[in-house]
Amino acid sequence: MTIRPLKQPVIRPEPVATPQCSMIVYTVGHDAAWRAKWYGERRPGTDPKRCQHDSHVTIDGKPYCRRHAGGLALDRWLKGELVERAAP
Ligand SMILES: [Zn+2]
Repeated sequence: MTIRPLKQPVIRPEPVATPQCSMIVYTVGHDAAWRAKWYGERRPGTDPKRCQHDSHVTIDGKPYCRRHAGGLALDRWLKGELVERAAP
């Protein structure tokens, strides 16, 4: 008997712990005390004033999640602070 796998095994990358996103955020309809209670219970050890996502990149040395990093990059692009350059 011969057994051969037809599909390659799925190799998932190891999760990497990264710092909390640095962006200060607000929850519509709630105040800072609500965020402190809500996230204090659910995500102890994180800053409830900041976005609760893990960071993916740093901008000017501060960690940001992809969503907030994208917003910052777009703002800088629109202000002309980023320049396009040819791929190496
Ligand atoms: Zn974020």
